[in-house]
Amino acid sequence: MSQSSNLYRLQQIDSPIDQAHARINEIQTILSSNPAVDQAQESVNTAEQVLQEARKSLRKSEDAVQDQHVKINQTESVLYGGKVRNPKELQDLQNDVASLKRYLSTLEDRQLEAMISIEDSEREHNKSVAILEETLARSVELQAGLIGELTQLKKTVERLEIERQVAVAAVNPADLSLYEQLRQTRRGIAVAKISSQVCGACGALLTPALVQAAYSSSQLIRCSSCGRILYVG
Ligand SMILES: [Zn+2]
Repeated sequence: MSQSSNLYRLQQIDSPIDQAHARINEIQTILSSNPAVDQAQESVNTAEQVLQEARKSLRKSEDAVQDQHVKINQTESVLYGGKVRNPKELQDLQNDVASLKRYLSTLEDRQLEAMISIEDSEREHNKSVAILEETLARSVELQAGLIGELTQLKKTVERLEIERQVAVAAVNPADLSLYEQLRQTRRGIAVAKISSQVCGACGALLTPALVQAAYSSSQLIRCSSCGRILYVG
């Protein structure tokens, strides 16, 4: 086999290895972060905070209602206790009780609003927890698929690496070093197949003399445009 065909064979092993590595990196990046789950978790955290605030607000309004009852009881016990006899003072106390009761009704309205607000917050919280659970389930499914693909890719790379060792053994060291250098500077493609007098990598039209040389020369012939090693197939 000619040197160019040995190098072409190596290229045909290296390209799928490169592709497998690129996909492995891609999968590892996907597996290392999960924005959909993070976002769903964030919504749960926010809903929890809102719910806690609503509960705190209910406790506060319950306390206020209770305090108001105590104030009313105290004022009424003075009013009906019999110690105050002055009609003006009694009238004032009655007015106080009436005013305290009016405000009690406002406080009770607030307490009712707080209870409704808790129900709303609980509903929102439950909804966000359900979304998080769904997102997690979907994510586990997706991850399982990707982990399976990753295992397959690693097996493929292992198999190709063994094939590569055999292919490399057929290439002389100077050609191999040119090949590696071209791979590094030509986006992984060092060997280009000629088809209809055109370089298969860069698309340049090759002179008949160059094509002829690629057929017959024992030396490596390179594309006049991209510098890659030409292979006639
Ligand atoms: Zn070329």
